[in-house]
Amino acid sequence: GFRNIAELLREHAAARPELPALVQDGQALSYAELDALVDRIAAALQREGLAPGDAIALSGLSTPRQAAVFLGALRAGVVVAPLAASSTPADFAAMLADAQARLIFVDASAAALVPAGRRTIALDDPDFEAWLAPPGSRPQDVTLRPEAPFNIIYSSGTTGTPKGIVQPHGMRWMHVQRGAKYGYGPGKTTLLSTPLYSNTTLVVFFPTLAFGGTVVLMSKFEAGAYLDLAERHRVTHTMLVPVQYRRLLAHADFDRHELSAFEIKFCTSAPFPAELKAEVLRRWPGGLVEFYGMTEGGGTCILEAHLHPDKLHTVGRPSEGHDMRLIDEAGIEVAAGEAGEVVGHSPGMMSGYHGQPEKTREAEWFAPDGRRFIRTGDIGRFDTDGFLILFDRKKDMIISGGFNIYPSDLEAQLRRHPAVADVAVVGVPSEEWGETPVAYVVHAAGDATPDPELRAWLNARVGKTQRLADLRSIEELPRSAIGKVLKRELRDRYKKETQ
Ligand code: ATP
Ligand code: MG
Repeated sequence: GFRNIAELLREHAAARPELPALVQDGQALSYAELDALVDRIAAALQREGLAPGDAIALSGLSTPRQAAVFLGALRAGVVVAPLAASSTPADFAAMLADAQARLIFVDASAAALVPAGRRTIALDDPDFEAWLAPPGSRPQDVTLRPEAPFNIIYSSGTTGTPKGIVQPHGMRWMHVQRGAKYGYGPGKTTLLSTPLYSNTTLVVFFPTLAFGGTVVLMSKFEAGAYLDLAERHRVTHTMLVPVQYRRLLAHADFDRHELSAFEIKFCTSAPFPAELKAEVLRRWPGGLVEFYGMTEGGGTCILEAHLHPDKLHTVGRPSEGHDMRLIDEAGIEVAAGEAGEVVGHSPGMMSGYHGQPEKTREAEWFAPDGRRFIRTGDIGRFDTDGFLILFDRKKDMIISGGFNIYPSDLEAQLRRHPAVADVAVVGVPSEEWGETPVAYVVHAAGDATPDPELRAWLNARVGKTQRLADLRSIEELPRSAIGKVLKRELRDRYKKETQ
C-alpha cells in the first residue's frame, strides 16, 4: 500500500537516530537531525501560509539543505518545482510563472536567475536558520493521496522548451517499491553526483532514504573526486549517466580505487553504448541496472545488465506492471518484431503537462480498451525475448531521399573505430535529398586520424543511402546538465560552420 515517504523518514529517525542520512564534504546529517530539520522546514512553510497543493520552486547546487527543503515540502504536502540551475534566465522565469511558485529557494549559484521582486529564501545564507520554525517545532499533519501532485518537474528540454510534468505522489512511491529488490537499507550508501532537480537523481534519492540508507551528495561531478568518495564511503549504490561512466573509466586512477562494496550501479537518461556497458561490467564490481523511461512516467524498461550480458544492445524489458507497446504513424500497434514509437502505461504516470491540455493530449495514446498511454517520441523494436532495442528519438530520425536513416546505427558503427571516443550523427538540410546525415566525432586521446579518412571508413561499411555527407571533429559534444547530447545545437552549429 501507498506510504508517505516523509513518514518513513520519521520512522527511521526513531529506529536509528544516529545513522547518517545525508553526507556532503565530510559533514553528516543523521536521521534524527534530518527529521528535526524537515519538521522545522515543514512548519515554516505552513507559517508562510502554504497549504497542501501550493508550490515552491527549488534550484541551485545539490546540498543536504536543499534536499531537506524537498523533504520538508513533502511533509507539508507542498508541491516542489525543482528548476535546473543551468536554465537560461528566460526559461527560468517561464518555469517559475508556470509552476505558480509562492516561494523560491536558491543558493548563490542560481540567485541571478530569479526575477526581481520575487520572495526568495537563500539556502546558503545564515538567515536560513532564522527563517526556520524554532527547534522542536512540529508541523500540522497532512494526509497525502497517491494522485495528489508531488512535483512539477520540467522536462530536460532536449527537443524544445521544457514542459512542466505533474508527477503524483504515487509515481515516487512506485520508484520506492521498485527499489525493494535492489538492496537499499540501513548501512547502505548511495553516491549521487547528478543534480537533485532532475528525475534521474530523484529515482534513486527517494528510495535510498525510504529504505533508511545514506545518501552522499556531490554538488559537482568530477571523476577523480567521485572515485575518492566512492572508496572512502564504501559506496554500495549510485546513479550515473553514460557520459559519466565514460569519464570515470577513462580516469587514469580508476583501476587503483577499491570499489568492491558496490552492489548496484544505475544508469538512465541517454543512450548507453553496448561496449561501454560491457566495459563497466568488466572493470567495476557489482551489478549494472539501466532504466529507460521519461520524466512523464508511462513505463520503464529495465535492463539488469549483469544478468543479461547478451542483451547489452537493448534497454531491457518493461518493468513489472508497466505496459509498453509500439505504434505506427497512424497510431496503430505495429506487428511483432517491427519498429514503432514507444508508448507506455504505468502506475503513477503523469496526470499531464502543467497548464498545457493541448500538449497533454498530443502526448497521450489510448489503447483499444481505452487505457491511457504516454507517447515517448522514441523509436524502438522488441526482440524475440521481449527486450526493447531503442533507435532514436523521432525528431532525430533522418529522412533522406525517402529513406529513414537511424543516426544511432551510424553512431554505433563509428564507435567501433579506435579513433572514435564519442560521436553524434544529425540530419542537416540537403537540396538533393531533403536531409542528409553528418557526424560530429570526438577523437580518442592522442588520435589524429584525418576526418575524410574516418568518413570514408564509415561510408565503405554502410548502405548507399546512409552515407555521411560530412564528418567533423569536435572537442566535446554539447550536452545538457544531465549528459544528454543536444542534437539541435549540433544542427545549428553545422549551419553556422557551413554558411
Ligand atoms: P524533452 O522532452 O523536453 O525533449 P527529454 O525527453 O530529454 O526532454 P527526459 O524525460 O529527461 O526529458 O528524458 C526522457 C528521454 O530520455 C527518453 O524519451 C529517451 O529519449 C531518453 N532516455 C531515457 N533513458 C534512456 C536510456 N536508458 N537509453 C536511451 N535513451 C534514454
Ligand atoms: Mg521527453
